[in-house]
Amino acid sequence: MSRLVIDNGTVLTMDDARTVHFGGHVVIEGDRITAVGPGRYDRASGAPDDAEVIDATGMAVLPGLIDLHYHTAIGKGFSDHLPLWEYLETCWYPLIRNLDADAAYWAAAASYLESIKCGVTTVNDMYRRVPDLARAAADIGIRAVLSNDVALDEHDLDTLQDNKDAYDAAHGSGDGRVEVYVGIEWLPLASPELLRDARTLADELGTGVHVHLNESLTEVENSKERFGRRPTEVAYDAGLLGPDCVAAHCVWLSDTEIALMRETHTQISHNPSSNAKLGNGIARLPEMLGAGLNVGLGHDAAECNNSRDAFEVMKFASLVHRANRVDASLMQAPSVLRMATRNGSAALKHDTGELTTGKKADVILVDTQNPMFTPLMPGDKAQIYSHLVFAANGSAVDTTIVDGKVVMAGRQLLTMDERQILSEANEGFLRTLKQIRA
Ligand SMILES: [Zn+2]
Repeated sequence: MSRLVIDNGTVLTMDDARTVHFGGHVVIEGDRITAVGPGRYDRASGAPDDAEVIDATGMAVLPGLIDLHYHTAIGKGFSDHLPLWEYLETCWYPLIRNLDADAAYWAAAASYLESIKCGVTTVNDMYRRVPDLARAAADIGIRAVLSNDVALDEHDLDTLQDNKDAYDAAHGSGDGRVEVYVGIEWLPLASPELLRDARTLADELGTGVHVHLNESLTEVENSKERFGRRPTEVAYDAGLLGPDCVAAHCVWLSDTEIALMRETHTQISHNPSSNAKLGNGIARLPEMLGAGLNVGLGHDAAECNNSRDAFEVMKFASLVHRANRVDASLMQAPSVLRMATRNGSAALKHDTGELTTGKKADVILVDTQNPMFTPLMPGDKAQIYSHLVFAANGSAVDTTIVDGKVVMAGRQLLTMDERQILSEANEGFLRTLKQIRA
């Protein structure tokens, strides 16, 4: 089996003890981590030794980041002033109603490209044309949980049958890196019956659910008007919630709804930069964490964010709550990094998010030899966490490894032609725009 060794790096294991090995090593065999420890890799201990060694001198080595709420995006940078509902109606839905297979494939490849360059190794991507997304994920080498954008028929998006077909076509593809969940767009485009049917389908397939819940006040008002209940209450009544369900946003949760999330062990994706940009508000993160909910982080979509940089999301996940509660003790760096790694992985029931023996080898190397990480005290744990969350951005990521395979090295994508991805994604966007305006 091929052996890959990351040697002489600052290894943040993200284990329970928050162990950091300065000048440590990580050994990868096949798709798994087989050793992690302090000190240099000892060639004599491994036999026969034809290991490929990555010199991680001056690098922080950490688990790949998990983007827990994600949409492939075909466009961005227009109508940036619109609130969520108007944005969806005038930009998002028209674009995704007119996607062709090629446009979806290249939009996904371009989206995953930016994520890989920012150290993201797993995306939880709700979008349309899932089999084309699955091909892009398989080709570029990212780990992807994909789901359809399911809504009531009159909205002309995806149906549960589309989602079932996507599951049959793509679940387990890309050497097992691609999974297919059941996706529900959001309550304003759904009904209690659709939510019940989505749960039935997910249980039949033995897969999970991805849904937007309580994102905006307009959504909450719409739900109260149509169903007499708040969105999370409607989802609870329909049986949609559960430990296999990722609920995105959860900005406007009542105390009762937080308790329902807790009771059902529903997974939460907190997306602070998207919520801020769209003027949706600030989620009650301290209360959600206080209730014991598992909360990961997501960027949402480049169409409404407009960056996929997971480092930026981490910084927002601390800063907005400190500003909002006038409390600088909130959301300290190690907790935020844990949300972006272990919590996201736990939400998807993945064997990633931690650099410990036996875990899947999703690993990133972050270059600390630049102004973002200067000054840097040798051997100081707290400072390396702080720099990663508060000082760095995704451009510091040097190497991205997924499932034991090096996908990016020295910021160069190794799996596909980066220029081709960008030009095809541009063409796909222009073609789709033409469709809308025709
Ligand atoms: Zn979303």
